[in-house]
Amino acid sequence: MTHGLLTISLATALAVSGLAAADGLPRIRVLATGGTIAGAQASASDYGYKSGAYDVNTLINAVPNLGKLASITGEQVANIGSQDMNDEIWLKLAKRVNESLASADVDGVLITHGTDTLEETSYFLTLVVKSDKPVVMVGSMRPATAISADGPGNIYNGVAVAGDRRAKGKGTLVLLNDEFHYARNVVKTDTTSVQTFASLNRGPAGLVHTGTVEWFEPMNKKIGAATEFSVDGLDKLPRVDIIYAHANMSADLIDAAVRNGAKGIVVAGVGDGNMTTPALEALKKAAKEGVVVVRSTRLPMGLTLRNNEVNDDEMGFVASGELNPPKSRVLLQLALTRTSDPKRIQAMFYEY
Ligand code: ASP
Repeated sequence: MTHGLLTISLATALAVSGLAAADGLPRIRVLATGGTIAGAQASASDYGYKSGAYDVNTLINAVPNLGKLASITGEQVANIGSQDMNDEIWLKLAKRVNESLASADVDGVLITHGTDTLEETSYFLTLVVKSDKPVVMVGSMRPATAISADGPGNIYNGVAVAGDRRAKGKGTLVLLNDEFHYARNVVKTDTTSVQTFASLNRGPAGLVHTGTVEWFEPMNKKIGAATEFSVDGLDKLPRVDIIYAHANMSADLIDAAVRNGAKGIVVAGVGDGNMTTPALEALKKAAKEGVVVVRSTRLPMGLTLRNNEVNDDEMGFVASGELNPPKSRVLLQLALTRTSDPKRIQAMFYEY
C-alpha cells in the first residue's frame, strides 16, 4: 500500500452493492481531503458535527451500487475542514492528481472536499492539472451521519461524471445536488442548503440523475495543458491577500498587506469593483511599488469591467472580469509564478 492507497476489494464491493466491478468499467481514483462529506455528528439528529472524521474507505463503502458504475481505488490526501485548506495541500493534491492521471490504470479522478473553499481548490486544479482525463470534485452539505445525508448521492453521481468520456478535456468539474459545474464558474451561494453551488453568470455545465449524465454548454476558457502554469517543482505560492471594500473603507488593511509582504492584492470591491478614494490611492501606490492589484467585486453576479468607473490603465490595476475575489486570488497566485507585469496578468484574466 503506497500513499495510503487502497483498492476496494471484491468482497467489499459485493457486500455494498451485490456486484463486483466488471472489466470494461471506468477506473476511478478517489482522492479524499475531508470536509462535511466525511463529517460525523454525535447523533443523527444533532446540530453540530466535526468535518473530516471518516476516511476514504468508509466514504466509498457507504455508496450503494458504486461498483456498477466504476472500479474504484481510494487514497487519503488530507482529512480537514476545507476552511483550513492551504497552499501546501493544494500543491500536494495537484501533484497527486497529475500522478494519478498519468497512470494507465486510472481513467478519472474523483476528489472529496469540504464545500467552503471548493470553488477555489477546483479553479486551482483546473489551471494546473495537465491531463485531459476527467477530474470531478464533490462535497456535501450534510455530514455522513445526518438524516438524508447528501454525500453518498454526490459521490455516486460524481463517479458517473468522472467515468463519462464527454468529461474528458473539460477541466475540473464540481458536482453537488445533481448539478455539475465548470470550476471557473462555480461559487458557493448558501451557508446550509444542499442547493448551494451555482454558476451564477452562466448556469451549470450539466445535470446528473442517478448516474445518467446530461451536458449543457461547453467551456470556452483555457485550462490544463493549455495554461502556462505548472506545479512541477513548485513548493510554495506567492502571498495574495483579499481585502473587502465597504462604506468608509480606510487604507489601513491595504498598507498592512503591503507591509506584510503581499505580492498581490485582490479587492472585493463595491459595485463594479469600486472602493473609497483613500483605498484607491493606497492601491495606486502599492501598484507603483510592484504589488499586483486586481479589482473584483463583492457582488455575486456580473463582470468587473476594465476602465469602466476606475481608470485601470492610469492606476496600473487589473480588472477581474468574471472572477470573484477567491477565484481571482487563485489566478493571481499562479500568475505571479510567471510574471508581475499587470498587463500580462490582465491578459491572463481574459484567457483563463
Ligand atoms: N466547513 C466544511 C468544509 O468546508 C463545510 C462543508 O464541507 O460543507 O469542510
